[in-house]
Amino acid sequence: MTDQALIAQAAAMRDRAYAPYPRYRVGAALLGSNGKLYGGCNIESAAYPATLCAERTALACAVADGCTSFEKLAVIASGEALCTPCGVCRQLLYEFAPALQVLCCRGDGSYESLGLHQLLPLGFGGSSMD
Ligand SMILES: [Zn+2]
Repeated sequence: MTDQALIAQAAAMRDRAYAPYPRYRVGAALLGSNGKLYGGCNIESAAYPATLCAERTALACAVADGCTSFEKLAVIASGEALCTPCGVCRQLLYEFAPALQVLCCRGDGSYESLGLHQLLPLGFGGSSMD
C-alpha cells in the first residue's frame, strides 16, 4: 500500500471523528501485517480523560480482529501542524510494533515518515522487564 493511499484512508477516518468539544478531528489508518487496513477516529467525551485518540481506536479495532502485528500507521488532523501520536498512543503502539513506520500528516496530506523508535526513544516494552 502506498503512503498516499494510507493517508487517504486516514483522512476519510478523520471525517468520522466525534469531536464536539475542542473540534480537533483526527483520523488514523493502521496497516496490519495481515494486509488489512484498520481505521480509527478520535472519540471525545465531555469528561476529557475518557476521550479516545484515533490511533488507539484503530489499534483496538485491529486487536479485536485478531491482528497484533503492524507495518505502517498514518495519522492526520487539520491545519498546518504535523499531527503526531500523543505519548499514550506511542506507548501502546510500541507494545505491538516497536519498529512501526508512522506517517505524521498535516491537514493538506503532506507528511513526514518517522519510526516509532524516533517518536518514543528507549521505549518501555515487555523485554524491558527481562
Ligand atoms: Zn493519542
